[in-house]
Amino acid sequence: MRAGEDLCDHCMGRAFMVRAGASDAGILGRRLRREGGYAEPARCAVCRGLFARLGEHCDEMVRLAGATEFATFLVGATLRPSVLDADDSMRSRHGLRGTPGIKSDVTRTLSRMFARRTRARAEASSPDMTLKVDLRDGAVSIETRPVHVAARYTKESRGLPQRQGRCESCGGRGCVACGRRGISGTCSVEGRLAEFLCGAFGARQARFTWCGTEERGGTVSGRGRPFFARLSCPSRREARLPRRADLGGVTVIGARAMRSPPGAAPRFVLTASLSVRAEEDIGDEALGRLRALRGGVTDYGSRMQRRAIHSASVRRSSPREFALTLRVDGGFPIRRFVEGPDVSPNVSDTLEVRCSCERADFADVDIRPAGRGGARSG
Ligand SMILES: [Zn+2]
Ligand SMILES: [Zn+2]
Repeated sequence: MRAGEDLCDHCMGRAFMVRAGASDAGILGRRLRREGGYAEPARCAVCRGLFARLGEHCDEMVRLAGATEFATFLVGATLRPSVLDADDSMRSRHGLRGTPGIKSDVTRTLSRMFARRTRARAEASSPDMTLKVDLRDGAVSIETRPVHVAARYTKESRGLPQRQGRCESCGGRGCVACGRRGISGTCSVEGRLAEFLCGAFGARQARFTWCGTEERGGTVSGRGRPFFARLSCPSRREARLPRRADLGGVTVIGARAMRSPPGAAPRFVLTASLSVRAEEDIGDEALGRLRALRGGVTDYGSRMQRRAIHSASVRRSSPREFALTLRVDGGFPIRRFVEGPDVSPNVSDTLEVRCSCERADFADVDIRPAGRGGARSG
């Protein structure tokens, strides 16, 4: 390397760091320059002063990261193509292929500076926060690793659907119209929970995995229904969450951040209370037959799936109306079990009278330990 090549300490040090067994190009370059008695050039032929400006970029990184909670981070950088070309040709001119390139030196240097200022740790595999620095215009963007939350909800309102539609302007990606949430509002269980959880974790969007579904008019009581939420771009990794919170027609219970996302869709059992109306009066003997219904129910309308009834009770409210309470596997075909056909056995066939399910309320949806019966919706 000639002195006339006008390299800054970093670019000079980088060229020799493999041979010198050094880990910091800047420190090595400064030492070589002092030993060789070269003056520092006004402008580096390779990086064009980029290393001298990294402190300013780090200031911006620290400023932007100020509102975010993190213990680990990763830095990525975008460099001007002309700088990458100059670095490439310098390395090939001097037979330095295999030595670290300018990009990795930049990200390593920025990481070190940022770690020193924030006391966080650089980590490549699963960092809490990823910072992208565009060295062409100085723009810094931050992305944080999603937080996963487990909780339960009860639903007291008979006017809220479970799901919220996607935002019509952006189709779910997130835009100004939906406040980046990606959904069309908060008039649903999903909307209420998304607003609560995104607010608690300073997150942008929530994606849900439900243990089953209920209709708009159906309530969920008792221990409620478990669900999992993946919160994207959180600014907090922990949140102080109340044991219960009333969200207006929906109550969230026991929300907590999880260490890792849930694996496969959990299996569960639930209690369903069905209001049933028959087309003719029903005798006590016929109702008794319903109490005896136990064991597997086959759903011919859905790939012959079998779901179990664990217990059944019946309470008459009029000659043609009764409440049927069932403890069943998740995915049980509730409405069709009353009305038939395609489901065997079913209530209409058992009573030999056409019956309809006026309403289905749920309670105590409980996740089962892995490896036993049950399934997704119900
Ligand atoms: Zn340089
Ligand atoms: Zn939108």
